[in-house]
Amino acid sequence: MTNVVLYRGRHLLFCLYAAAVAFSMIPGNPAWAQGELLLLRAARIFDGDAFHANAAILLAKGRVTGIGPAAALDFPDARILDLGDATILPGFIELHAHLLFRKIPGKVVLKHGITTLRDVGGPVRRPSGGDGHLRVFTSGPILTAPGGYPIPMLGQDGIAIPISTAEQARETVGVLIADGAVVIKIALEPGGEAGAPWASSHGHGHDHGHSHGSSTSSPGMRGQPWPLLPVDIVKAIVEEAHQHGRKVTAHVAEERGVRIAVQAGVDEWAHVPCEPIPEPLLRQAAAQGVVMVTTLDTLSACSGIARNIGIWAGLGGAILYGAEIAHPDIPWGINAQELMHMMDMAGMERLDVLRAATSEAGRHLGIPLLGTLQPGAPADVIAVRGSIDHDLKRLEYPGLVISGGRIIVDDFTGNGDSAP
Ligand SMILES: [Zn+2]
Repeated sequence: MTNVVLYRGRHLLFCLYAAAVAFSMIPGNPAWAQGELLLLRAARIFDGDAFHANAAILLAKGRVTGIGPAAALDFPDARILDLGDATILPGFIELHAHLLFRKIPGKVVLKHGITTLRDVGGPVRRPSGGDGHLRVFTSGPILTAPGGYPIPMLGQDGIAIPISTAEQARETVGVLIADGAVVIKIALEPGGEAGAPWASSHGHGHDHGHSHGSSTSSPGMRGQPWPLLPVDIVKAIVEEAHQHGRKVTAHVAEERGVRIAVQAGVDEWAHVPCEPIPEPLLRQAAAQGVVMVTTLDTLSACSGIARNIGIWAGLGGAILYGAEIAHPDIPWGINAQELMHMMDMAGMERLDVLRAATSEAGRHLGIPLLGTLQPGAPADVIAVRGSIDHDLKRLEYPGLVISGGRIIVDDFTGNGDSAP
């Protein structure tokens, strides 16, 4: 096994780490009030990058402090959870959600395997959680043209800010970031793409529930396109966000919006576009380093989804997992269907799909080691019984969920957090 050397190196590091931990407990950390060491063993561990057989991880003080072969890691002082025929993974990272706007309980999402979530379109909040609660990052409301998407469907209370000038754009970006936004979300959506949830008047669009929008706006029709932000305003948004060290993510779904996003240097697309996008435009976006967040499940009826993501993957474009939690079709947790679409539509390997929902998403958020189980990573861990080689659905019902070292779900021994 090529991993042996790596393991030996890690094992040494692990021993030093563990010794340091054993002799220096930090008092007062609620998650580790008893200075507890937790050793997890399982038949398989996915560390955010690769799989290891018969492995173990050590958690202490809300962090991963070691990973290595189960036989090599034995700590008499540690509480040991031997999960047997199970798979341990980092908690998953959802990059496209509307948790706050739809008032979805974070605890439910956490119990179903998502330990970090980025809300893109909803109230702005300072980063929170990661300590036994769902870690939540937000963009705040979506910047859009006056009367632009999503205002015709959802109104603007808590979900959108109409932007008329570059000056207003810069000021708004500054305020959102000061209020805690980790990314800026914009909409470039003229409406009417066949198969898109927001284009369906009788389906399950974003206008489900407490919409303030007019039901007569008939977004299914191409006749009256919603206005788009012009390139100069989007450029101002991108510049201002970059000056604050933040990225910009755009709701795009068709060629016009994509063209504006590419011209203005938008960093990320919050969806794979619904309609087929000309290949040269995709090529240009990939060359600019654009990252695509998938949401393939909610858009699976769109004509261009499989084609766009297939071309994008072929171009080597970056793809990250996002399922749009709060969409009526999407489970409040890990969405296995999204992962399966990433394999069947984008042609991604299972390993790459798992990375896109863990380590690569953590790097994209700029949080060191988030989404990995490397020493020093946040102790955000999930486990499922058996193997996920041929059954990703298991991920939707993890038997173990740990957030910041706190056990939230433990169906293996039945000692999970039972707080409501
Ligand atoms: Zn969305």
